[in-house]
Amino acid sequence: MFDRSLLLIPGPTLVPESVLRAMAQHPIGHRSSEFSHLMGEVTAGLKWLHQTQNDVLILTASGTGAMEAGIINFLSPGDRVLCGCNGKFGERWADLCRAFQLQVETISAPWGQPLNPDEFGARLAADTDKTIKAVIVTHSETSTGVINDLAAINRHVQAHGQALIMVDAVTSLGATPVPMDEWGLDVVVSGSQKGYMIPPGLGFVAVSERAWRAYETAKLPRFYFDLGKYRRDAAKNTTPFTPPVNLFFALRQSLQLMQQEGLPQIFARHRRTSQMMRAAAAAMNLPLLGPAECASPAVTAIAPTTVEAEAVRSLLKKQFGIAVAGGQDHLKGKIFRIGHLGFAGEREMLTVISALEAVLQQLGHPVTPGSGVAAALKVLEAAA
Ligand SMILES: *Cc1c(COP(=O)(O)O)cnc(C)c1O
Repeated sequence: MFDRSLLLIPGPTLVPESVLRAMAQHPIGHRSSEFSHLMGEVTAGLKWLHQTQNDVLILTASGTGAMEAGIINFLSPGDRVLCGCNGKFGERWADLCRAFQLQVETISAPWGQPLNPDEFGARLAADTDKTIKAVIVTHSETSTGVINDLAAINRHVQAHGQALIMVDAVTSLGATPVPMDEWGLDVVVSGSQKGYMIPPGLGFVAVSERAWRAYETAKLPRFYFDLGKYRRDAAKNTTPFTPPVNLFFALRQSLQLMQQEGLPQIFARHRRTSQMMRAAAAAMNLPLLGPAECASPAVTAIAPTTVEAEAVRSLLKKQFGIAVAGGQDHLKGKIFRIGHLGFAGEREMLTVISALEAVLQQLGHPVTPGSGVAAALKVLEAAA
């Protein structure tokens, strides 16, 4: 019997007790001075997390809503955009852009492999008329556990000089550096149920000055997600529409937890948990989907060949109350994915690895008892 499952999917992620408690309060009025104070606090925390002086705007939406806001506020119908596609979320960007009548060109890589920055370089260098309006990249591709080399892709965009760089940082923000100002990123989107360690419901869009200039002439229709409204109101510590105030309580608490830990420490912890998972998988004879050089700090995808991925998932759930994710689209049934984003740390990795050992043995997969845990502990020792 489990009073709650151990949620190790790449979102929604585990929520700390203090965050749950922060939410369990009566709502406050969103036009009150109390709320304005709260808004000021969380806005400062969000800028810290994004390493930026730019606006970071808060929307009532999941991550995809934040992606949509990023498109409709800065682009016009027929605009030429370059989308990186090496998984489900990259493809979502391309579909979203097509839905708004943009002219979409893709740079693709097989699912499980990273995007090649040189391909962006070549396509951007060939654009001598500067007709490419935006380059859109999924930083950590959650569907495959691959992180794309955003810094290298971004260098090509900066060399182009005109195109905006828009980034899905949904499972990279709060897990690995996304220094918005240092890199000159224009639009950075994220969602509350991932690295933020709070429940689903908030989307975030960080916007550069260059993007605000594009906003002035952008012609796609916008109303609820008109970011100009959010910017004007945020300057007065308020929001254009009723915000989910209890999620703001949660956000204030989670940002405080993150600030107590510190960004370098948070990034190091995600590196450790990712390495623990990969080392354990190798020791348990489980093939990993993507190469180590582009391992996402947030999620590890395992592609078993001797056992059914879905059988592993269902036994983990039934026997140990541990939820891990399956594959999406053509990877359905082929992989399972373990999230190590946000509040899921070393303790949770050791738990899921030992449970995996037990489950694999039951399924007849060759695994030496204790080998996965030992490999994970070795990573911890090396990091100590
Ligand atoms: C979770 C996620 C999203 C957003 O999905 P929603 O369900 O709309 O919150 C976008 N991109 C990536 C990479 C994600 O992992």
